[in-house]
Amino acid sequence: MNKVGIYIHIPFCRSRCSYCDFATGAYDAELCERYVSAVAKEISSFDAGDHEVDTIYFGGGTPSLLTPAQVETILDSVHKQFHVAAQTETTIEMNPGTVTRETLRAYRTLGINRASFGAQTFDDEHLRRLGRTHTAADTRRTFDDLRAGDYENISFDLIAALPGQTIDAWSSNLDRALRLRPEHLSLYLLEIHEGTPLAEQLKRGRLPQPDEDASAEMYRLMLARTSDAGYEHYEISNFCLPGYESRHNTKYWTCAPVFGFGCSAHSFDGRNTRWSNERDARRYVEAIESGRAAVVETIELDARELSAENLFLGLRLMRGIDLPEHQARFNQDVRIKYEDDLARLKEAGLIELSDERLKLTRSGALLSNEVFAAFV
Ligand code: SF4
Repeated sequence: MNKVGIYIHIPFCRSRCSYCDFATGAYDAELCERYVSAVAKEISSFDAGDHEVDTIYFGGGTPSLLTPAQVETILDSVHKQFHVAAQTETTIEMNPGTVTRETLRAYRTLGINRASFGAQTFDDEHLRRLGRTHTAADTRRTFDDLRAGDYENISFDLIAALPGQTIDAWSSNLDRALRLRPEHLSLYLLEIHEGTPLAEQLKRGRLPQPDEDASAEMYRLMLARTSDAGYEHYEISNFCLPGYESRHNTKYWTCAPVFGFGCSAHSFDGRNTRWSNERDARRYVEAIESGRAAVVETIELDARELSAENLFLGLRLMRGIDLPEHQARFNQDVRIKYEDDLARLKEAGLIELSDERLKLTRSGALLSNEVFAAFV
């Protein structure tokens, strides 16, 4: 049986953060109830074929706004439609302050065994500026509640290079994160997305522009501090204690099959077809309720596109690309096909290249978009 991941998108949040460009909107109890039924229906009508699910991921949005009964409805539909492996990694994303200890225990009873939450920063003033609805104290409380609820695989996100954030402030954020000793950390440099309130505030000079040199220093600091604390840097922005890589997200970086359900969910069959669903939650629900498909785009990738995807997604992993394996799968000798670009990137110190492997250096991880541009 083919191993597959299942992604379920929950497009509701308490309020919108100023930097966010995800497909998410304000929580509406009535729409949420219809949405959960629609997702269950979409899953139930999916042709599951000969697949075994070994990761399930509730992403969003803020999936922890779902009641345990709603999570159960969706998980039941997955279990009815697919064969689900015994040791499936089942993750739910959450925001601090959106869950009680009772809810966390109920999720755990349903088989949720991994929690991923957006701490973002331990500085309350920065949280307020980002439009987050929680405080650092909420983050701490959520972490303690998860541990009390028997969660042995916890991940949280922090964002570096926030407007006005000093290197010392970032360092103290790292200290606080590492003291909690989560199994997994996602540490990002802030990305500014056009059209978001944050982009507007920066453009109008209401907030200071993040400084590029300081961002690079913060990235170097996160590599050094996580390494000293025993974390493995396994993906550009992801760090884990041994054995705690995100199995679900690794599927995206290795071009493994993942089936997405819910609005704006994307899927890949692991061979050559990608498809995506209607982005708007209400239109998605209406489509499913009236018996129409939610898929709005299907793309068949040709051999050149598949090979390029395997390169720029696989390079996100710090172990890089196994070149003989790539050649066997895509019938392409990367060292010949990209000879000039590889020579330039190697000269610039952004990649390491041998007969067996192509991978980013630490500098390459910081400037990864420059490397990926060679393969797009
Ligand atoms: S909680 Fe997450 S998904 Fe929701 S608005 Fe904020 S950043 Fe976006």
